[in-house]
Amino acid sequence: MATDIFDTRESQVRSYCMNWPATFAKASGPYQWTEDGTRYLDFFSGAGALNYGHNHPELRDLIVDYVANDGVTHSMDMKTPAKRRFLETFERIILEPRKLDYKVMFPGPTGTNTVEAALKLARKVTGRQHILSFTNAFHGMTLGALSVTGNSMKRRGAGIPLTNSSKIPYDDYFDGDMPDFLWLEKILEDSGSGVDKPAAVIVETVQGEGGLNAARMDWLKSLSDLLRRHKILLIVDDVQAGCGRTGKFFSFEEAGLYPDIVCVSKSISGYGLAMALTLFKPELDVWEGGEHNGTFRGNNLAFVTAARALELFWADDSFQNQLAERITELNEGLKRIAEHVPGSSIRGRGFLTGIHFPNPDTAGKVAAEAYKRNLLVETSGPQDEVIKLMPALNIESEDLQKGLAIIEESLLAATG
Ligand code: PMP
Repeated sequence: MATDIFDTRESQVRSYCMNWPATFAKASGPYQWTEDGTRYLDFFSGAGALNYGHNHPELRDLIVDYVANDGVTHSMDMKTPAKRRFLETFERIILEPRKLDYKVMFPGPTGTNTVEAALKLARKVTGRQHILSFTNAFHGMTLGALSVTGNSMKRRGAGIPLTNSSKIPYDDYFDGDMPDFLWLEKILEDSGSGVDKPAAVIVETVQGEGGLNAARMDWLKSLSDLLRRHKILLIVDDVQAGCGRTGKFFSFEEAGLYPDIVCVSKSISGYGLAMALTLFKPELDVWEGGEHNGTFRGNNLAFVTAARALELFWADDSFQNQLAERITELNEGLKRIAEHVPGSSIRGRGFLTGIHFPNPDTAGKVAAEAYKRNLLVETSGPQDEVIKLMPALNIESEDLQKGLAIIEESLLAATG
């Protein structure tokens, strides 16, 4: 039999991860099928890029129609009807009802691109260089985004000094002993502290890669108040926690924040297509034409599906209410499962959630056992010590329960 290119040694460097040896050929809703037709339930959802599952039929049909009618696919900065429709829909369904006034920028295709644009904009607006970010943060893989990332394994590969940034403790880093930011205020005000006044602070409301650490709402609010007092910009990286993952469209809504800059990507296209937005308050628009550009900033297929996905899921409260019910169901399931391992705890918020186990090896073993039982599920955290559940937000209750039962069985197999 001919060697499959995926089995050659060289293929290791081409792939994102080899945890799942199967080759996937078809996908629909919360399921994927391998080439030989074996079905897997997907609790990975493209690392949060598939919040509405795979190949949503209505979105798929729109793409097929658009291509069949020779719609423009690549347009960079050119105006197209698809881009207009996306911008109008985003304004009407997302920004206006939340009383958020943002300019919308397409900074490039990925989450990393929106983070880069946010950091550059904050530095240009304030004329300051320093950026503060948090322990265990993850913001992307380019040098600017890596400089604000907390994970030293990810940063190490860069091999050269990264741009001017420092890490401060995320909520609960010291087991919840830091209810306010008085310590930070002192450091910022003390000219002897050696800490340059930053241009911005960048934060994830739930640290998706860093172990599903969820910031408390009052912590986020006091961070935002402190930054306002000191005229430091607040950047919320909603690349993973946004687009409904935590139960609301933006993950900061419940905390009542109005960040200066917001990074959005992953599920914004509604279909797993590369797309990113950088949202910023109008008064921060200091960009000169062409100052932040790139070839892939106008994917019209993504505009087409993104606009319709917003209408399908966010035009009124019904999807959000159904999601709230599923979140309760998921939490109840997680509580039941966590009881099997003393010392374990539930992490995250909404549908960006999982279980932290005291033994760092457990989560990886559970994921491997789950794969044997046809469930795709990932781990998170600096030691991959958290099993991370990210089902599609529109998953049916029956499928959610099926996945939870597999995780419970897998945990018993992994620890028994
Ligand atoms: N920010 C956050 C919070 C993320 O979770 C990620 C991706 N996991 C990124 C930025 C980078 O996004 P991308 O991989 O699309 O570049």
